[in-house]
Amino acid sequence: MLSIAIYGEQVLNQVAQPVTVFDSELQTLADEMLNTMQQAHGVGIAAPQVHRSLQMFIMASNPNSRYPDAPLMAPQVVINPQILQTSEAQVWGEEGCLSLPQERCQVARFESIEVRYQDLSGEWCQEWLSGFVARIFQHEFDHLQGITLRERTAKST
Ligand SMILES: [Zn+2]
Repeated sequence: MLSIAIYGEQVLNQVAQPVTVFDSELQTLADEMLNTMQQAHGVGIAAPQVHRSLQMFIMASNPNSRYPDAPLMAPQVVINPQILQTSEAQVWGEEGCLSLPQERCQVARFESIEVRYQDLSGEWCQEWLSGFVARIFQHEFDHLQGITLRERTAKST
């Protein structure tokens, strides 16, 4: 299990660098991030949270002790993500973060978003996400801009 950066560590407030090399080292990092996320009962984890300032995260919604109502999906590695367009509607929901243990906050997120990102082989994928999965994407995307729940909730209030 990789060590998880806790709020206050500088890596969490840096803009992450684009991934340019899609090799076995990147695959290994993705595997280690997935293991770390699962052991911590998270539904997503971003590379800066394991002290790697790279534009990469994993979203893996599944019902667990932290999020009993989460939908089940296969873990998806998301690299160099972009949000192309968003719904007008935003929805409030409770979020936690592996880097802010013990904290849960109400955060407004777009109900649906159109996104574009690369997978581990460097292939571009484009799709619409909605609901809880869109929420995870927006939370992890924030991490790549150096924004945690602390900054997000400070902004929206
Ligand atoms: Zn987080």
